[in-house]
Amino acid sequence: MAGKKIIGVLALQGAFVEHEAAIKKCGSQACQVRKPEELNQVDALIIPGGESTTIGKLMQEFGLDQAIQDRAAQGMPIWGTCAGMILLAKEIDNSDQFRLGLMDVKVKRNAFGRQVDSFEADLDIDHIGRTRGIFIRAPYVEEVWGEARVLSRYKDKIVMVQQNDLLSTAFHPELTQGLCIHRYFLDMV
Ligand code: GLN
Repeated sequence: MAGKKIIGVLALQGAFVEHEAAIKKCGSQACQVRKPEELNQVDALIIPGGESTTIGKLMQEFGLDQAIQDRAAQGMPIWGTCAGMILLAKEIDNSDQFRLGLMDVKVKRNAFGRQVDSFEADLDIDHIGRTRGIFIRAPYVEEVWGEARVLSRYKDKIVMVQQNDLLSTAFHPELTQGLCIHRYFLDMV
């Protein structure tokens, strides 16, 4: 029987503790990843919300940029929430900041505007159903192409995308009670 899968949570900055707790609540193993050696120990990776420019800079500093890209090329599942969605994107509107450039999407940062910097909404998600989404200075996806598939929209804005082993959400499932998105990701692993 294969051993239990270990889900790594990138722990450079942002909401990594909450993701770790949610994965453990699902009955799976989670561990924090800060170094390439730690990435080697995990079967999948979550890139949390936070500040995408900061997480991107730290990734490069710790040599995790190339390490994550190499594992992605070998098919390791990766899920990015919010800042993580931005870091997975190939294109970022109006920005030349570092990104992993793995998903066929163009994102817009802080895209929901000032008045609604943070808000909650019910979302309908393909294959999953209805869940509550918390958006915090969230991006949305302006464009998808290639292999990327839209899983959810809020109003007409794309807020969840899957591309084979890669998943991204503009909202923060680690901050709500339900575990349905974490379970969906675990099923991908
Ligand atoms: N606005 C942040 C960024 O652009 C993302 C916010 C978040 O992750 N909650 O990096």
